[in-house]
Amino acid sequence: MHPLKIVILLVLFYLLYRLYISGRKKRLEEKGAEREAPAISDLLVQDPVCGAYVAKGQALVLRDLDGSEHHFCSDKCRHAFIEQKQK
Ligand SMILES: [Zn+2]
Repeated sequence: MHPLKIVILLVLFYLLYRLYISGRKKRLEEKGAEREAPAISDLLVQDPVCGAYVAKGQALVLRDLDGSEHHFCSDKCRHAFIEQKQK
């Protein structure tokens, strides 16, 4: 075999290998994106103190004795809500 043909073959294999790797990586990223989009944590809830909308997954939660939940953008708002209730 001519040495140049071997080089060309090696380059071809290398390119195919690169294509395979990048294709696989892309598919894995797409899978990851699907997993990162759970509907529940993206749901917006309203802070009853300041009125801001917060993603449910990031909001601070306060559960009442009767089982109802309140969501807050920050600890400050949660404290204000608790103080308001105690009055
Ligand atoms: Zn707030």
